[in-house]
Amino acid sequence: MRENLNRNAACLCGKVNVSMRLLNQEVHVCHCNICRKWHGGPSLTISCAPKTVAINDPEGALKWYQSSEWAERGFCSHCGASMFSKLLGDAPLYYGISAALLDKQDDLFTSEHIFIDKKPCYYQFDDECKKLTEAEFLAQFS
Ligand SMILES: [Zn+2]
Ligand SMILES: [Zn+2]
Repeated sequence: MRENLNRNAACLCGKVNVSMRLLNQEVHVCHCNICRKWHGGPSLTISCAPKTVAINDPEGALKWYQSSEWAERGFCSHCGASMFSKLLGDAPLYYGISAALLDKQDDLFTSEHIFIDKKPCYYQFDDECKKLTEAEFLAQFS
C-alpha cells in the first residue's frame, strides 16, 4: 500500500495552518548552532514538496527571519512556534517543516543527524542513524 504523504499542520496557537505533501517520512535532526538557538534544541525537520505547501494565515501571523545567506525560517508571531526552514526564494529546492507540527506523525522515523560535531554535551540521541559532521554534510553539495 502506498503511504499517504499528504499532511496538515498548525502552529501552537492555530493561527497559521498549512497543508503539504511530504517528500518522504524521514525526519532529519540538525544540531547546528542556528537550529538550536531557533528551536531551543536540535531541529527535527521533515522535507515538503515545495510546490505543495499551501499556507492559510488569514491574520498574517507567519513571519520570516533570514537566518543565513541562503536560508530563511518561518515562525508564528503570535505563539512563537518554529515552523519552517527553507532556501530563499519563491521556488525553493528545500522546504522543511518542524515534524512536531504535523497532524499525523506515527509513520515518521529519524533518518540522519547532521552537524553532529556541533552537538553540545548535555543531550544525546540513542539511535543507530547516520551521523554527519558539518564538513561531511556540506561535502554532499560541492
Ligand atoms: Zn501560532
Ligand atoms: Zn541546523
